[in-house]
Parts: sequence; structure tokens; C-alpha cells
Amino acid sequence: MAAKTTEFVTDPSFVRRARELKTIDVMVRMYCRDHHDNADPLCPRCVELMRYAARRLERCVFGDAKPTCSNCTVHCYTADKREEVRVVMRYAGPRMLLRHPVLGIGHLIDGRRPAPKLPAKPVRLAPPVGVEDAAPGSDTGDG
Ligand code: SF4
Ligand SMILES: [Zn+2]
Repeated sequence: MAAKTTEFVTDPSFVRRARELKTIDVMVRMYCRDHHDNADPLCPRCVELMRYAARRLERCVFGDAKPTCSNCTVHCYTADKREEVRVVMRYAGPRMLLRHPVLGIGHLIDGRRPAPKLPAKPVRLAPPVGVEDAAPGSDTGDG
């Protein structure tokens, strides 16, 4: 029988992640414009990086309470994408304060935020008294 799944939902207001998405978009554009020839406004590789970063942000387990990804305790990025973002940040980060001071200061403040503790995994409750736990893999006959 297929496992039950539910839609993955995080904070629907998305305020902080929307701002972070704008910040990384600005940084990737800045990097792409200064390093890649076919930027219009982004080269295909940077388009792919932005799509990836947007997906990760949308599904971040911390929701809008997220730390900056560099302070994260989970690190959901693949190693190669993490390295790509690190290179972009190293170039664009210092330039943000001059060219986009509001986003740049917001990013600096966010960088001081520690990663919140994730909730503990749900504890499996013991069955009520008098009900025996079924052996793993046993067929109860009801479906
Ligand atoms: S690296 Fe951490 S903070 Fe960044 S999107 Fe992934 S889980 Fe969220
Ligand atoms: Zn590019």
C-alpha cells in the first residue's frame, strides 16, 4: 500500500523568504553580468541556479524563521550548488551595501540570526493498555 503523503506547506505569508529570494536574485544578476557573456538578464547556468535556490527557499524546513543558508544546520543544497552560491555571495556580498543598501543591510542582519531548533520528531505513543502491538509486517486482515 502506498504511503500517505500531504502537501508540503510552510508559512504562507512567505515575507522573509520573499525578501531573501529578491536578495539572491540581485546577487546572481550582479555576478552573472560581471562574469558571463550571455547574461540576458541571466545566462542559462545562472537561470538554473536561481530556479534551484527558489525551490530550496520555498521548501525550507525553517519556513520564514530560516537563518541564512550559510548559518544553516541542515544544508539542503547539493555540494555543487552550495559551492556555486558561495562563489556568487563572495563576489556580490561586499558590493550589495553600495549598490543595494537596503537589501544588503537586511542580509547582514539576517546573517546574525542563529538557526532555530527544529521541532523534535514526533514520538511514537505506546498503544492503550490492553491493545497488543502488532508484530512488524503482520497482516491484520483489514486492508
Ligand atoms: S540551506 Fe538551510 S536555511 Fe537554506 S534553504 Fe536549505 S534548509 Fe533552509
Ligand atoms: Zn551567469
